[in-house]
Amino acid sequence: MEGKRLTSYAMEELECPKCGHKHSLKKYKVINVTEKAKLKEEIMKNRLYQFSCEECEYMAPLTYDSLYVDSQRNIMIYMAPVMNAEIKAEIAELEQEKGIDKRLVDNINDLKEKIMIADNHLDDRVIEIIKIMYIDQMKKEMEDDTLLNILFDYNRDNYCFLVFFQKKGIGKIPLTREFYRQVEDKYKDAIKEHSMDSFMKVDMEWAGKILFKNHNKFN
Ligand SMILES: [Zn+2]
Repeated sequence: MEGKRLTSYAMEELECPKCGHKHSLKKYKVINVTEKAKLKEEIMKNRLYQFSCEECEYMAPLTYDSLYVDSQRNIMIYMAPVMNAEIKAEIAELEQEKGIDKRLVDNINDLKEKIMIADNHLDDRVIEIIKIMYIDQMKKEMEDDTLLNILFDYNRDNYCFLVFFQKKGIGKIPLTREFYRQVEDKYKDAIKEHSMDSFMKVDMEWAGKILFKNHNKFN
């Protein structure tokens, strides 16, 4: 099992979609940041899942299926832009390993968000619940604008959410530790009930099931 979790990559030939220049590129199957800490930085700085052409300077994100492992934070994150039978089989094999948090994401931003949450010793399930609560408070702003995304972020010791509006652009909402703990405490049992020891897609849809369930129960 351990061998499957060590950093590995394959070299791949890629043609620049703009100028046709041929590139030889490292495509990571597994990124183990306990073993290779620098790779985390590469992901966070948008260098790793990125195609950049030295000929014509064309740049584009390059998302492909790979496994992110951080044994210190006790988490594995599988990024799969498209799910297929091969990935499902791989995931099933990885799921034999118990006692480590497993997450599934389908894009780089979500992967980076999960990494940031884990690095701050927070629980992504609590974060997704808080997102829904915050969105509920932004209803008025959403009347004449469209919310495109909401992502956890931090600066030193301060947590926040970045909100991406279509017209207004990017805004920031602070998140206090106190509020985080309140939510964590309130939904502790519900979170446990809705969690499995398999690759979970923890997003707002997942969190909605918890909030909606409680809503029905108490109102
Ligand atoms: Zn090019």
